Amino acid sequence: MKRENLRRIILSTTAIFMPILMFFMSPIIIVMAAGEGTIAACTLTFLILFILSLVIGRFWCGWICPCGGMQDIIGMGFEKKTKKSPLDYLKYIFFIFWFGAIVLFFATAGGIHSINVLYNLDNGIGGLYPAMLYLSWAMFAALFVLTAILGSRTFCRYLCPMCVFFIIGRKIGKVCKIPQLGLIPNAGNCIGCNRCTRSCPMGIEVSKMVRSGDTYDSNCINCGACSYNCKKGALRYGFKGKI
Ligand code: SF4
Ligand code: SF4
Repeated sequence: MKRENLRRIILSTTAIFMPILMFFMSPIIIVMAAGEGTIAACTLTFLILFILSLVIGRFWCGWICPCGGMQDIIGMGFEKKTKKSPLDYLKYIFFIFWFGAIVLFFATAGGIHSINVLYNLDNGIGGLYPAMLYLSWAMFAALFVLTAILGSRTFCRYLCPMCVFFIIGRKIGKVCKIPQLGLIPNAGNCIGCNRCTRSCPMGIEVSKMVRSGDTYDSNCINCGACSYNCKKGALRYGFKGKI
């Protein structure tokens, strides 16, 4: 199976299962659990993803996140792309509030008292499923509006506080010279056709990056769509010691 098809299938599947996956990746449940001094399944999910981001950066966003999957499905109906803008800083502001709330809630609860992967699941997944289902529909509607106004993957580029974890992880990995998954340019092969830029869901000017020889961009979700669409071998997707 072609890599890009596999990625689309994975993302569409996680998007469909969003109401169930939310139990294990909700940023709100992390804060609620912190208020009781509890590490929930969602907290563990993000801790694991943060550690993985040292090596794979924002791979989660580009390949697995159900919210990303929803946006890719919606994005098929729109041409518009996000672009560099002051809105890029919004996610960092949201992250500070979100992360600050987690730390504050743990502090007021007197620290970490327990790890409970079944937190909020006293009545099983069925108990809260209807609420999660309605929430997922509401998110889909909101993402549709955002995509129509600002372009594809608006939430990932401008608003998602969780992705800042992975951006920080990727930066730490880069500073520590850990071999990371990313884009390896070969500027000599580039003919400037811009197929890579057009295929980037995050609105990154990929061809410019290729010609500059530096393919590091905090907005890159490591989806690999650009390298898949480059037919001249100017962009490889893989591991390199220093990206
Ligand atoms: S698709 Fe390949 S050849 Fe075309 S601009 Fe991008 S990197 Fe260069
Ligand atoms: S630069 Fe390439 S790998 Fe990064 S988000 Fe854009 S298309 Fe995906």
